[in-house]
Amino acid sequence: MSYQALYRKWRPRTFDDVKGQDHIVTTLKNQIRLNRIGHAYLFCGTRGTGKTSVAKIFAKSVNCLDPKDGNPCGECAMCRAIQDQSSMNVIEIDAASNNGVDNIREIREEVAYSPTEGRYKVYIIDEVHMLSMGAFNALLKTLEEPPEYVIFILATTEVHKIPVTILSRCQRYDFRRISVEDLSERLREVIEKEGMDVEERAVRYIARSADGGMRDALSLLDQCAAFYIGEKLTYDRVLEILGAVDTEIFSRLLRLVAGNDITGCVRLLEEVIGQGRELGQFVTDFTWYMRNLMLAQTTDHPEDILDVSTENLARLSEEAGMIRPEVLMRYIRVFSELSGQMRYSTQKRVLLELAFVKLCRPQMERNYESVLNRLDVIERKLEQGVPAASGAPFRQRGGNEESLPEAEPEPALSPAQAKDVKKVVDGWQEMISELDASAMFMLKDARVSAAGEGQILLAFTKEMNKGYFDQEAHKKAVEQAISQRVGKQVGIVTQILKEGDRRSGLFIDPNKIHLENVEFEDEDDPF
Ligand SMILES: [Zn+2]
Repeated sequence: MSYQALYRKWRPRTFDDVKGQDHIVTTLKNQIRLNRIGHAYLFCGTRGTGKTSVAKIFAKSVNCLDPKDGNPCGECAMCRAIQDQSSMNVIEIDAASNNGVDNIREIREEVAYSPTEGRYKVYIIDEVHMLSMGAFNALLKTLEEPPEYVIFILATTEVHKIPVTILSRCQRYDFRRISVEDLSERLREVIEKEGMDVEERAVRYIARSADGGMRDALSLLDQCAAFYIGEKLTYDRVLEILGAVDTEIFSRLLRLVAGNDITGCVRLLEEVIGQGRELGQFVTDFTWYMRNLMLAQTTDHPEDILDVSTENLARLSEEAGMIRPEVLMRYIRVFSELSGQMRYSTQKRVLLELAFVKLCRPQMERNYESVLNRLDVIERKLEQGVPAASGAPFRQRGGNEESLPEAEPEPALSPAQAKDVKKVVDGWQEMISELDASAMFMLKDARVSAAGEGQILLAFTKEMNKGYFDQEAHKKAVEQAISQRVGKQVGIVTQILKEGDRRSGLFIDPNKIHLENVEFEDEDDPF
């Protein structure tokens, strides 16, 4: 037997198999049970939401010799004939290729003959919005006085193109996009019946990528399974096949953007391209990531609307606290615009790099959100005691110089002693509380300990985070913040924490601080 695509093979056969359209299914089943069947139905909704499948089940049900609670039995002669498309009672027409008046006239002539077997002739007209005006008028005549034994089911993705005269004659049903939950459930059923081995995270990613369409969900699963026949389908493999990247990358990217690090962004992009990822998909996924972040930031119970794991939710909430909503909205706007431009561009990479520049350099844009973004940067600088601009505008040379103080060189603080260093380690969270969001974020990865000689050791698990503080400006910012707090000159040194290296120090957890054998070499310092 030739290979049959999953979405064909697992097309729902009864109303109860249909996922995510309960409101429609229940009504139709009731109509069949109570024998109150209409003559014209309009099924609207985006592609892959089950319009044609439901139309076919309906056609079977109304003709079934032994319907069960509104569902077709699937076993009688009528059900079987319709299932294998040999029944004369179900006529499928694709309006995209049969959109002329003549096509509809043919139907009108045919409609005059009652069915030779079964109760109803069901005409399913797919993509009905493609009919010409003449064809619609011809159809209208039939809809006005349909014979008892005829049912029309018109399906469309673009209901606004259907003339009102037609609309008013039909019972309208709006097919919803299917939720990730429902899609995942159906995928799991199919996976089990097919004897496939698929990681749960992979299932959810496929469901999310399908964007509300069951057909897309099953096609994606098909596509992924074909790559690894007989092997376990993991999340990573799915990402690879679909050309997508892991959310960890987005988290990194966001931190780079928040830190206005264009070089870092471009490097990360290079890495993504090196992995052979599709840039259009990358932009879509990152936009989605930021959207989740925004919801985590602005709603009271994000878990109700966000489709992410508990661990991801915790990380999202944490990141949400790092960026102001207005700034995030600007990011999302820039990326949504980009998404549209990417589709037809041959210079995807350049467009993406341009977007990074826009995000990291709000001063280059002149709209309201960018101004807010810039204000945010200035506010933070002021909070940290850095002058907003060098060279005060009111400075007057000569004359009354004493009326305005000279920009004083930073007072030289005396080097920190062991007890000062201990103070810093103990009060670490407070020490860094006024740093900017990206620095604070990266410091969450740091274990803090005393390094002697008036220095603090920051040990990172991630190379990227260490690299950030190896940059002179970022390092200085931390040193200044700490030094101001303790009133002594404190330096920092960085290092990478090796696997299993539980050196003395602190692990800074987002919310709590654990003290782990902090060792101070000269604890009995006389001071
Ligand atoms: Zn039957």
